[in-house]
Amino acid sequence: MKKLLTKKHPTKKLLLAGAGHAHIGLLRRLANKRLDDLKDIEVSIITEQPQTLYSGMLPGWMAGHYDLRDISINITDLCKRARVTLVQRPIVAVDADKEIVTTAEKEHFHYQMLSLNTGADTDMTWLDTDALADEYLENTVIPVRPIFNFVEQWQQILKQAKQTSSYKVAVVGAGAAATELVMAAQFALQQINANHQACLVCSEHLLSDFDAGFRSRVIKQLQRHNVKIIYERAESLADGQLIMSQQTLAADAVIAATGVIGSAWTGHTNLATVDEGFIAVNDKQQSISHDNVFAVGDVATRVDREMAHSGVHAVFGGKVEADNLLAYLAGDNLKSYQPKNRTLYLLACGDKYAIGSWGSFSVEGRWVWWLKRYIDKRFVNSYK
Ligand SMILES: Cc1cc2nc3c(=O)[nH]c(=O)nc-3n(C[C@H](O)[C@H](O)[C@H](O)COP(=O)(O)OP(=O)(O)OC[C@H]3O[C@@H](n4cnc5c(N)ncnc54)[C@H](O)[C@@H]3O)c2cc1C
Repeated sequence: MKKLLTKKHPTKKLLLAGAGHAHIGLLRRLANKRLDDLKDIEVSIITEQPQTLYSGMLPGWMAGHYDLRDISINITDLCKRARVTLVQRPIVAVDADKEIVTTAEKEHFHYQMLSLNTGADTDMTWLDTDALADEYLENTVIPVRPIFNFVEQWQQILKQAKQTSSYKVAVVGAGAAATELVMAAQFALQQINANHQACLVCSEHLLSDFDAGFRSRVIKQLQRHNVKIIYERAESLADGQLIMSQQTLAADAVIAATGVIGSAWTGHTNLATVDEGFIAVNDKQQSISHDNVFAVGDVATRVDREMAHSGVHAVFGGKVEADNLLAYLAGDNLKSYQPKNRTLYLLACGDKYAIGSWGSFSVEGRWVWWLKRYIDKRFVNSYK
C-alpha cells in the first residue's frame, strides 16, 4: 500500500474535514508529539468554525453553570501547536474518484488521504414545513445542531424571556439530549420568571434505548422540575402553536433534539452512503467504496454492526481511526474498532444534579453532577 501511494503521489497530503471529537484528538496527539509516521506528510484541516463546542457541557452552559469559554476547544490554537494548516470553511462536496474536496467558496483541495469527522445535522424531517415561511421557521424552530447556531439562538431566547411575563419553550425529542436540554431550559427560564415554562414533546419512545431504572429516574427529575411531558409526536407549527398528533401547544420557541441525519454535503459525494447521507464505513472506519477515505463519529455509519451515533464512539472510534490513518500511510495492517458493551452515561438535570448509568446500574445525586463536571472539564482542558 505504501509503495502504491509513493508511486502515485510523491507528496502525500492528509486532509482532515471537520474538527469533531476524533480530529481534535488527532490534533492533540500531533501537538504533544511529532509523529514520525507523519514527518513527510502535509496535514491540513478544513472546518467550519475556529472553535469546537463540547456538547456534553452544553446543557450546563444553558443552565448558567459554565460560560462559553469553559465549553470551547480552540481549534486555531490546537492547529498551531500541531503544525497543521487550518482552513476555516464548510466543505460542500467530496469527489472521491478525483480525490478532491470542495468548499462553499468553490475552492478545491486535493488529497491522497481523507479523514471525515464533520458530524451530522438534526433530523428535521418530522416537521411539515410546506405552509411555513422560512423566516418564521428560522426564528421559531431551533435545531440543536449545528451547536454554534444553537448557542446564538438560545441567547436570543433568554433575551426574549427577560422581556415578557410568560414565555414557553417546547423541546421536541425523546433521547437523553432532549431530556437534558429541557431540564436546562426549565432551570434557566425559571431563574428569570417563575411563570416561564419548558415542556418536553417526546412521542411514546422516551429514552427507549435506556434501561427502565434509568428512564424512571429521568422522569422523576423531569417531574421535580415541573416539566410537562407530552407523549405525542410533534408535526408542524402554526400561529405560535406546536401541532401534535392529538393536541396543540403554545410555544414561543421550539428546540429540536430529534436525532441526526446526514449532513447536506453528503448529498454531493460519490462515496458510498447509507441511511440517506451517512458515509458507509467498515470496522476500520474506512469507506467501503474508497479505501483512502476514512470517516468517524456522527458523519459515518458502520455497515458491519449496529452502532449508535454518539460522542463516545466519535472519541473512542476516533483513536482507532487515527491509528488506522497512520497505519494506512505506513502500509501497515489496520485495526478494527470494537466498542465496549457498556459505557458510562452521565445526564445533567438542570440544576447541579445528575443521573449516571452503567449498563443496568444507575445512580443519581449532586455528587454525580460534580463527577460529570470533573470529567467534562478534564476533557476540555486536555486540549488547552
Ligand atoms: C445536548 C447534547 C448532549 C450530548 N451528550 C452526549 C453525551 O453525554 N455522550 C455522548 O456520547 N454523546 C452525547 N451527545 C451526542 C454527541 O454530541 C455527538 O454524537 C458528537 O458530538 C458527535 O461527534 P462528531 O465528532 O462526530 O461531530 P461533532 O462533534 O458534531 O463535530 C463536527 C465538526 O465538524 C465541523 N463541521 C460540520 N459540518 C462541516 C462542514 N460541512 N465542513 C467542515 N466542517 C464541518 C463542525 O464545525 C465540528 O467542528 C450529545 C448531544 C447533544 C446535542
